[in-house]
Amino acid sequence: MRECDTIAAIATAMTGAGIGIVRVSGDRAFEIVEKIFRSKKTGKKLTEQDTYTMHYGNIVDGDEAIDEVIVLLMRGPHSYTAEDTAEIDCHGGVYVMKRILELVIRSGARPAEPGEFTKRAFLNGRIDLSQAEAVMDVIQAKNEYALRSSVSQLKGSVQRLVKGIREQVIYEIAFIESALDDPEHVSLDGYPEKLREKVDNLIQMAEDLLIHADQGRILKEGIRTVIIGKPNAGKSSLLNVLTGDERAIVTEIAGTTRDILEEQVRVRGLVLNIVDTAGIRKTEDRVEQIGVNRAKEAVRDADLVLYVVDGSTKLDENDREIMELLQDRNVIVLLNKTDLVMKTTTEMVERMFSKPTVGISAREESGFDRLADLLEEMFLSGSISYEEESYLTSIRHRTAMKEAKESLKKVLESIDCGLPEDFYSIDLMDAYESLGKIVGESVGEDLVNEIFRKFCVGK
Ligand code: GDP
Repeated sequence: MRECDTIAAIATAMTGAGIGIVRVSGDRAFEIVEKIFRSKKTGKKLTEQDTYTMHYGNIVDGDEAIDEVIVLLMRGPHSYTAEDTAEIDCHGGVYVMKRILELVIRSGARPAEPGEFTKRAFLNGRIDLSQAEAVMDVIQAKNEYALRSSVSQLKGSVQRLVKGIREQVIYEIAFIESALDDPEHVSLDGYPEKLREKVDNLIQMAEDLLIHADQGRILKEGIRTVIIGKPNAGKSSLLNVLTGDERAIVTEIAGTTRDILEEQVRVRGLVLNIVDTAGIRKTEDRVEQIGVNRAKEAVRDADLVLYVVDGSTKLDENDREIMELLQDRNVIVLLNKTDLVMKTTTEMVERMFSKPTVGISAREESGFDRLADLLEEMFLSGSISYEEESYLTSIRHRTAMKEAKESLKKVLESIDCGLPEDFYSIDLMDAYESLGKIVGESVGEDLVNEIFRKFCVGK
């Protein structure tokens, strides 16, 4: 699958930074850069230089010097892509970088597709698929925790765990096959019971990885948060306190039926993505706001629901309905308006609705430390260690892991139904294939291309 044409791209950000890098990779990388490079030393040829050397000179277009640069040479296989790679370290203006890239392309390279450098590193066997995807996560990591989990995935911790499970699965397949082939020497007496125990174990491991995956996603992308409550409870006041006007990053997400407004709020180490804030801010729609159907829809995909209750009024039938709706969700009740005479207390709420309840005053901005403590307890529980845990951070990995888990469950069903052993191997084999998708073995070429297209150009 080795690809042999030479590719080039701007590898650094397309902003006016101090330094920019144009990266060229492939068999003709040195030769192509040489065509547009004038060394300060006369007669110096890049193609004749040693690997891991730096060369000072100008990039030229005919007689015109475009920029003063340093060229770094790395001969394959000891480079990022495992191919000959030249990096032109130039001044970081967008115009200069584009000009140099154009010259490189005119001299025989072709523009790299998004992720193509990393794709080559993968195709040349230097990194596996989960490491390649981690590279993309490192580039896109939004916060520190996310970055650390990507780095640990890059080091191969997910791969090690998944490979471990996969090896155990193939061991059982091999055992069943050999017993069926050679029943005189390999006995299957009592085997289903042993297999049940092992498969139970593997399912547990898969579930652990999936639970961590969810935490990983939350750390990486933020906590999907919905604020609900009756009209006048103080939802928009709360939102104003949380977002503090300037700090809020407001993003419009193109939805299917309408655009959803999402605001990002940072609370200590966590990011809350408060969705559908347009609905909260738009106060004319008060009746619609409490419509149970609407609330149902809003909380369906939420990681966290902030339920605002006006403590200066009594709880009513409407609150009961909302609480019922939120019964099995991750909820924090915010009992608002503690600066007024309270008709509802935290104890009263907790008796009715066994969810953590915090008294706040949006007007006086009090009680928010307690809210932050609760968020940390919920989402950064002490058991998570960011350095060591492994997260299946991409949707593709999670889907494959779920498939593997389902196949393993089918093995248990076959054992329970007393089906013959060759039935077990079919489902074990499916589990094996699904796990292979995570570590990049038995992956179709289409999928490989699809993944690498997600990368930004230059990586
Ligand atoms: P929403 O309809 O749930 O978005 O509620 P708003 O945020 O618009 O608040 C409704 C009313 O309650 C407004 O007059 C706010 O000024 C008032 N309010 C909100 N929070 C507090 C609070 O903590 N204390 C007091 N005394 N009034 C509040």
